[in-house]
Amino acid sequence: MRVYNFSAGPAMVPEPVLKQAAEEMLDWHGYGMSVMEMSHRSPEFLQIAEEAAADLRELMRIPDDYRVLFLQGGATGQFAAIPMNLAKPTHTADYVINGIWGKKAADEAKKFIKVNIAAQADPFTYVPDQKAWRLSDKAAYIHITPNETINGVAFKAAPIETKASLVGDISSMILSESIDVSRYGVLYAGAQKNMGPAGLAIVIVRDDLLGRARKETPLVWNWSEKSVAGSMLNTPPTYSWYLAGLICKWLKAQGGIKAITEINHRKAQKLYVTIDESDFYSNNIKPDYRSIMNVVFTLAKPELDKTFTEEAGRQGLKNLGGHRSVGGLRASIYNAMPEAGVDALIKFMKEFEKKYG
Ligand SMILES: *Cc1c(COP(=O)(O)O)cnc(C)c1O
Repeated sequence: MRVYNFSAGPAMVPEPVLKQAAEEMLDWHGYGMSVMEMSHRSPEFLQIAEEAAADLRELMRIPDDYRVLFLQGGATGQFAAIPMNLAKPTHTADYVINGIWGKKAADEAKKFIKVNIAAQADPFTYVPDQKAWRLSDKAAYIHITPNETINGVAFKAAPIETKASLVGDISSMILSESIDVSRYGVLYAGAQKNMGPAGLAIVIVRDDLLGRARKETPLVWNWSEKSVAGSMLNTPPTYSWYLAGLICKWLKAQGGIKAITEINHRKAQKLYVTIDESDFYSNNIKPDYRSIMNVVFTLAKPELDKTFTEEAGRQGLKNLGGHRSVGGLRASIYNAMPEAGVDALIKFMKEFEKKYG
């Protein structure tokens, strides 16, 4: 029996995609082998790869002057790749921090450049107002995390125009709502939240930012070299790339970003209403900054957290524990979480409150 998996990542994959992958597992389109057995240089895989890239471009409306790279090393690999590709050791980059991932990104960047923390939320329950950011004069770039997965805090709009290029970590929101790509110099994401299995990282980079990497940048994280090689300078994560492609096709069949945004807002809204209407559950994120992907909440009796996750688990509602660094509870409700899963969670929450509240 399939359960509703509320994990922050790796996370649910749409069931039709899993079924198609299963059907194609032994013999992809009469080719006599699985995609994972194909040469990445074969015309068959190149077709899979190009279609995935084209579908991602179409879904996200990525302008022509941006490259899309399919890499390994996760979003965390990019924490280091970003400074190496965009700045010299003496340069400064600005980081705006509204959660734990942004802080990790800044800490990693410090190994390679000077980091200016332009603004930091305290606690991580809001996004610092752009008017209060203390930006450097000649920043190499400005790094933001539009959706903070662990803290459940999200930007409600892209920042207004900035002098330095914006770099956005969209790991937990890629394909969940529309993003104006042209506002950013670089967008990047680990795939395992909203667009596939782990092992794949997506980098979307504007052409004029290529060719600036310092020479000691490892080949596998050199965006220019990767771009010239069509992300196939070495063996790419072929199977994850294929699944990301199937997920893009699935999303297009759902009506694309516009349709999924509406569903995502509805799912999040009903969960927040349930939390706000009860005295037993609470969410302390300032309402303007609540994430529609990662809904964090606490119980009036935190000693019941474990009982909550265990009883929910027995009803097929899995992985509702908060991140190990913050505790509490969290429901990650990415694109592949059916609305029925959110409804089942709400029903469970009401029953749990009646029993223990
Ligand atoms: C999950 C996550 C990461 C880390 O991703 P890895 O692929 O595990 O390196 C970084 N940033 C954000 C916003 C995330 O949600």
